[in-house]
Amino acid sequence: MSDVKPFLSDNAAPVHPKVWEAMRASDRADNPYDGDALSAQLDERFSDLFGRECAALWVATGTAANCLALSTMVQPHGGVVCHEEAHIEVDEGGAPGFYLHGAKLMLCADGHGGEGAKLTPDQIAAHIDPIRDDVHQVQPHAIAITQASEYGRCYSRAELEALSAFAKSRGLGLHMDGARFANAAAFLGGSAKEAAYGVDSLAFGFIKNGAMSAEAVVLFDPEQASLAKYRRKRAGHLQCKGRYLAAQILAMLDGDLWLANAAHANAAAGEIASGCGERLMHPVEANELFVTLSPEERDALRAQDFAFYDWGADAARFVTAWDTREEHAAALGKAIASL
Ligand SMILES: *Cc1c(COP(=O)(O)O)cnc(C)c1O
Repeated sequence: MSDVKPFLSDNAAPVHPKVWEAMRASDRADNPYDGDALSAQLDERFSDLFGRECAALWVATGTAANCLALSTMVQPHGGVVCHEEAHIEVDEGGAPGFYLHGAKLMLCADGHGGEGAKLTPDQIAAHIDPIRDDVHQVQPHAIAITQASEYGRCYSRAELEALSAFAKSRGLGLHMDGARFANAAAFLGGSAKEAAYGVDSLAFGFIKNGAMSAEAVVLFDPEQASLAKYRRKRAGHLQCKGRYLAAQILAMLDGDLWLANAAHANAAAGEIASGCGERLMHPVEANELFVTLSPEERDALRAQDFAFYDWGADAARFVTAWDTREEHAAALGKAIASL
């Protein structure tokens, strides 16, 4: 394994040393569940970060974070509008149906301006406007978007403003899957506030970006927050030693480690992108690259110890992380350029 140059995924990356340190430093007895001194800091720390009041709850997976947030705004007879390639549809094993008691995912395909699995108000309107206000039809209750998107694209402040105004005008909740929120925020200039502009809830990912087992559900409405606390326990996600999750999140927030780690990953992706030219299937804005490569070309890269996933028959996906070595990124860029 020692020679492998890893680009499989950012969740293959190790735990950041500062996260380990923070867990060691807080390794002592304290109140169980979320009654400890560290969990008690979360609401204020996130409210400062976002410049508006919010509550933040730790959970151990992004799937739980998305579904718990959605469960505060979607009734069992309602629906969540999302892109057809959204993680909640494709990669969560049916968890939304489980947490939302059968609520429907209402899938938008590309078109009407959407690109890279991003949604636009026009695209959503085209999908939901034909739905009759009639008990026979599932009514949308929320919209879920992904920042950065499943193809590593970011929603700008202006795009979020438009989506949030649209959601409000239709009485829909707006949830953001932020498994790679840090990478998006780094791309958009470093402001968490701008990168989550106008959303009602955010699943703020830390694990792919250096934490071990803690993601934050951030809720901007106190009623939603209260609901989510009960739902978290009912879902079996109220860890009795939750202080170790809080320690991870606080370590990531301290000194903006979350942003520095993401900026590093994004820069490494940029370095690789500079060798990919026309092969890039999507503009590289965060830390994922989708690159057209034949099976033979992928074999050639694997023979040089680059590890990555295939993306369909004629492409590959490369993901950088907080620990990606600059020489590995440079080598990959060069290797792709010279194919
Ligand atoms: C990784 C990821 C998640 C979280 O996945 P878990 O395995 O449940 O932690 C959520 N959304 C997106 C877009 C992801 O890439």
